[in-house]
Amino acid sequence: MAAASLPPTPLRTRFAPSPTGDLHLGSVWVALASWVLARATGGAFVVRVEDLDRPRVVPGSAESILDDLTWLGLRWDEGPRPGEAPGAHHQSQRHELYTRALARLAAAGLTYPCDCSRAEIARVASAPHAGEELVYPGTCRGKDPHRAPRRPFATRLRVSPGEVTFTDGAAGPFTQNVAEVVGDFVLRRGDGTFAYQLAVVVDDLAMAIDVVVRGADLLPSTPRQLLLARALGGAAPPRYVHLPLVVGGDGERLAHRTQGAAVRALRSAGVEPEAIVGALAFGLGLAPDPAPRHAEELVAPLTARLAAGEPLRWPEEPFAVPAAFAARLPP
Ligand code: GLU
Repeated sequence: MAAASLPPTPLRTRFAPSPTGDLHLGSVWVALASWVLARATGGAFVVRVEDLDRPRVVPGSAESILDDLTWLGLRWDEGPRPGEAPGAHHQSQRHELYTRALARLAAAGLTYPCDCSRAEIARVASAPHAGEELVYPGTCRGKDPHRAPRRPFATRLRVSPGEVTFTDGAAGPFTQNVAEVVGDFVLRRGDGTFAYQLAVVVDDLAMAIDVVVRGADLLPSTPRQLLLARALGGAAPPRYVHLPLVVGGDGERLAHRTQGAAVRALRSAGVEPEAIVGALAFGLGLAPDPAPRHAEELVAPLTARLAAGEPLRWPEEPFAVPAAFAARLPP
């Protein structure tokens, strides 16, 4: 486990689910870590619904995720109110902020319009490693921004050369040369949709988030987000904790199981919220054993540990759920 020292101040944390399906155990694990960190430091736990990518949004998913969080005992201090229309904590309602941020980046000369098609990019671009995203070759970087577009313009960030380095609370030091690994990346797509990378940075800054806890799959996105946070100035960017995967007893990635690892399915199978919280808290090093626990029971011990100046140690390796718990997962 990596040791991470945190400032002894109230921490604002967030959980930012995309409403594209059921809440899975892997997401509960990051939500639980975020929640307890906020509660143990007297900070605030913010929930934000990342519903920008309209075609991927599954109707009813946001409500179901929020209901599952409540059932698990992970109540939020700021976020959507159940039953209310989408509002300030839904990205779909925050376009004005993203528009303003984009205008500031443009005014600083940091953006340019791009009318490359995917196929055109694929023809010239190279992927640094198999399965990774294509590196944008900068085709439109030097073109006249006022030209007539061949298709609706996307907006890209001009990425300066050089490495971006930060220390992750769980993964340790991480370095990425964004210009080489990603290239000038998209901030707004040709269809007008704001990119996740822009929205997440604008929101984490606007919501004054101190610590972002999320899945390790997003670790390679963080250098992009740090570049954007720097370019947008303002408050300091958050610290990051990228938690490894939660896997089944057999090492199989739980998020890949469509049903068995969904909180909905566990609820229907009669698994109690305390059983889920207890197993995951043990994996996070927040409980001495995987016995069932109410989320509230985790708060005071963590407060005491932080008050004693103990550094937090987050797991670096995938967490295989205890056998007794795995046995209760529906097939
Ligand atoms: N909305 C993203 C997801 O559900 C998480 C984004 C983040 O935590 O930065 O995968």
